[in-house]
Amino acid sequence: MAETTYQPLKVYNTLTRKKDLFVPIAAPYVGMYVCGPTVYNNVHLGNVRTFLSFDILFRYLTHIGYKVRYVRNITDVGHLVGDGEEGEDKIGKMAKLQKVEPMEIVQLYTNDFHDVSAMFNLLPPSIEPTATGHLIEQIEAVQSLIDKGMAYESNGSVYFDITKYNAAGNEYGKLSGRVLEDLLNETRELDGQAEKRNPLDFALWKKASPEHIMQWNSPWSRGFPGWHLECTCMSAKYLGKQFDIHGGGMDLKFPHHECEIAQGTALTDVTPVRYWMHTNMLTVNGQKMSKSLGNSFLPAELFSGNHELLDQAYSPMTVRFFMLQSQYRSTLDFSNDALKAAHKGYKRLANGLRVSKLLTYVHEEGIEPDEAKKADIEKSIEGFYAAMNDDLNTSVAFANLFSLLKYINMLNMGQLKPAALGEALFTRLKDRFVVFYEDVLGLKEEPAEGHEVLDGMLNLYREYKTAQNYEKVDQIRSYFKQQGLVIRDTKVKIEWAYEE
Ligand code: AMP
Ligand code: ZN
Repeated sequence: MAETTYQPLKVYNTLTRKKDLFVPIAAPYVGMYVCGPTVYNNVHLGNVRTFLSFDILFRYLTHIGYKVRYVRNITDVGHLVGDGEEGEDKIGKMAKLQKVEPMEIVQLYTNDFHDVSAMFNLLPPSIEPTATGHLIEQIEAVQSLIDKGMAYESNGSVYFDITKYNAAGNEYGKLSGRVLEDLLNETRELDGQAEKRNPLDFALWKKASPEHIMQWNSPWSRGFPGWHLECTCMSAKYLGKQFDIHGGGMDLKFPHHECEIAQGTALTDVTPVRYWMHTNMLTVNGQKMSKSLGNSFLPAELFSGNHELLDQAYSPMTVRFFMLQSQYRSTLDFSNDALKAAHKGYKRLANGLRVSKLLTYVHEEGIEPDEAKKADIEKSIEGFYAAMNDDLNTSVAFANLFSLLKYINMLNMGQLKPAALGEALFTRLKDRFVVFYEDVLGLKEEPAEGHEVLDGMLNLYREYKTAQNYEKVDQIRSYFKQQGLVIRDTKVKIEWAYEE
């Protein structure tokens, strides 16, 4: 259920280096583009953290009433090994290694990405364009940049002309805060510079060597498009020459996003993006999790517990909760201990969700309103919104959710009477808890069996207990335990719950 009034949301804008009030170009519509995965191998948990952060943004914008067009591409060409200007295509290289077509690699790992996204309950984007599906747009953009004098051909490749771009009053480096002189010092040693007028110029189109298997015809050579150009073309095609939000991991700020700004501005004379948002990295012992560093975890390793750094398996929702306990701009270190703590916290919340769906309002005469608790519940609901409005501070949002959980548990155990809250606030508490949990934070229940089976087993438990058949009672207890569940048998009630 959407909260129909737009909340005053503030987001940290990398471009202005501060939290800016989010004002869309054409409310209620919001255009949002996120750089998608390069599909040359399995997505790791670091990638998941970034996509999860934008899933939260997508969900929250929708929750507060915006109509979001969320475009997240699939990079299936042009991203070279080492993220630079020279060398093999990541996908082409993998295709050679596995002796298959590049598009088989693309399909395999796109499927993997979709499967992983579904497991972590990431909502699909509104449009998921592929770079190879937009070669015509990219070739047109290259031609247009040449026509505008912002790009030049050299030996069959085409480069963006940084000197011309800056001479026209633009500032290459403004997003990442890079200074041109420093960049020049960094790039001097790289190969492949001979074709460029300025070592900082970047490729829009590259002529392919014969062994480079992914290549297409163009007016300049048989070759392939530059990695940065695809995002410019796909975002402009589906969101317009200027749109609201562009996201990605912090490691993409330079050169990828810097180049996108340069291309977009040179093509249309307007800066393409209003709010640039970047997520911080998932680290392992303080080091960025990445395939090339060999410290990455695959989702499957986590779900099976089959990894030397793990001593048990963790469910997708536990991991989702673990990641969201940190705000997206802080680093997050991945460890077995941190996951263990998250496992406990998540089970407490999961019990709260199950219970809040079962709670019903009962009117009782003679119950005094509990003003202190009522005020605290209101404060926690407001606090949840205030945290999300403060640059999606999910960490503080969870603190407020746990505060609401306390009252849900009190209601469940009869320590707080619904009538002490009044029907309106009781309903609001129940409803907001479920909506925050499921719609905004995107968590969901994950019992092995459906509720009906579990409730049926609980009824059997009650019958065997009355009949004093303790052998059967124990069997049913262990049936629940095998699924990470417990039977809570107290004076107040008998219920099943997630083991915390
Ligand atoms: P790639 O497939 O390498 O293009 O990466 C897909 C997305 O994952 C990009 O937005 C990256 O910035 C992001 N990413 C890669 N490694 C990490 C990490 N360790 N933590 C968070 N995000 C990451
Ligand atoms: Zn991109």
